[in-house]
Amino acid sequence: MAETQIEWTDATWNPVAGCTIATEGCKNCYAMEMARRLEAMGVGKYMGLARRSGKRSVWTGVVREDQSALSIPYSWKKPRKIFVNSMSDLFHERVSDKFILSVWKVMEETPHHNYQILTKRPSRMVEIVQAKIGKVLPNVWLGASVEDARVTDRIAELRKVPAAIRFISFEPLIGSVGSVDLDGIHWAIVGGESGRFARPIREEWVDEIHSQCVESGTAFFFKQWGTWGKDNKRRSKKANGREYRGQVWNEMPSPPAL
Ligand code: SF4
Repeated sequence: MAETQIEWTDATWNPVAGCTIATEGCKNCYAMEMARRLEAMGVGKYMGLARRSGKRSVWTGVVREDQSALSIPYSWKKPRKIFVNSMSDLFHERVSDKFILSVWKVMEETPHHNYQILTKRPSRMVEIVQAKIGKVLPNVWLGASVEDARVTDRIAELRKVPAAIRFISFEPLIGSVGSVDLDGIHWAIVGGESGRFARPIREEWVDEIHSQCVESGTAFFFKQWGTWGKDNKRRSKKANGREYRGQVWNEMPSPPAL
């Protein structure tokens, strides 16, 4: 896996494949669908990770560590922003501590890349980073996904983790997040859901996040509207575009001095 269409990164790297649903934000997880497609194409790493259930793909619960993928970032000579595990969650309970430490070793030995790790399980991330890693790598950005007000406790968890950059992905934004504390959060990504089963996003939910980013000095990146436009009409993701309040928002975080 390498080049990607994800607007806020340059490449994806998947040392782990497979996952299980954590909360509502996972309901239409594109990785489940993609895992089945890759299996149909004969890619061994994705065999048995997802199965068909009615019109959907669902995880089977198999989570696979891929030792052979650990060498990939060394072969990328050009510096890249790398999204770690677009097809899983590095902090899933079935990924061993040992394997997570191997991933950290790769990131430490390839400082020319910036790594972006996003989890829906920030408590385990905090636990491992504090107890077993114990140092901050300047090229590792740690983030949590927050889809609505029911999971904003992930922000407080994330704040506990020592990291060069801490970020929140408010995607897919499926509800208001309400008033949140973004202190210590360097970057926020916001986006709507895409695909057949996409749930609508509302412009006022984006406003709420944007104004709190302005107050806290958090860089704001508006990724896309997704399948539902700001006018609450369904159309293609491309047609809905990336403009919010008349402009494209591609702000990136500035790393604090370590
Ligand atoms: S945590 Fe991420 S990869 Fe896992 S099911 Fe949820 S959205 Fe998919």
